[in-house]
Amino acid sequence: MASSWFNSLRDFVSCALFPQSCLVCGNVSLRSIPLCFKCQKKYLGSPDSWDLRCRRCGRFLISAKELCVTCRNIAPFEEVDRVFPLYPYDMLGQELLVAWKIGGNFSLTSVFASCIARELENFPGFIIVPVPPRPGKIRKKGWDQIDLLSHELSKNYGAPVLSCLRRFSQVQQKQLGREERALNLKGNIRCITPTVPKKVIILDDLMTTGATVETCAQVLKELNCEKVYAMTLFYD
Ligand SMILES: [Zn+2]
Ligand SMILES: [Zn+2]
Repeated sequence: MASSWFNSLRDFVSCALFPQSCLVCGNVSLRSIPLCFKCQKKYLGSPDSWDLRCRRCGRFLISAKELCVTCRNIAPFEEVDRVFPLYPYDMLGQELLVAWKIGGNFSLTSVFASCIARELENFPGFIIVPVPPRPGKIRKKGWDQIDLLSHELSKNYGAPVLSCLRRFSQVQQKQLGREERALNLKGNIRCITPTVPKKVIILDDLMTTGATVETCAQVLKELNCEKVYAMTLFYD
């Protein structure tokens, strides 16, 4: 594939000019991201353990079934049918997400896309709907990581993507608590297409309270979407 050839060339040039250490093992990563192939395989492999995960937050279940102890005590999702967050938001997860979102290490997009694409093989017939960025984010930063990830999934893996949601809120979600987030989001995410697919996977990078994906799911189900899953790279 042309893109993998391009990635190899980019890795070669970039590690010759700016050698990077792997965040996990400390060895030279030999590519344009701070993670070596060996550690990527070990830490960003296929989760392959959905039966052992909480359906609401994605954390590993110890003795409980379906929902973890924390999620039993909070309001269940009404519209999201199940979440599939891939990896824990541990030290490595945080470093990778910061390097990608804040540091603008675009090479990580292809790594994350490969992780998502591998999981998507288990969901034939589902359409990816990216979580919409805050208004003005693309204008201010020049890019949105979920938009970029969706684009890569579509271009390099042929994943069906429909960017049908827009966000109109001006208040940043991370400054708010769980209930305020839900209120802030309500009505501020809207669908810009007259119809939506029957089976959707909402794509985001990090799952925290789940308020954003729940609001997206609410909008989609009002338009007769039947099944809404949420897939994120990390869960907190
Ligand atoms: Zn390593
Ligand atoms: Zn849970």
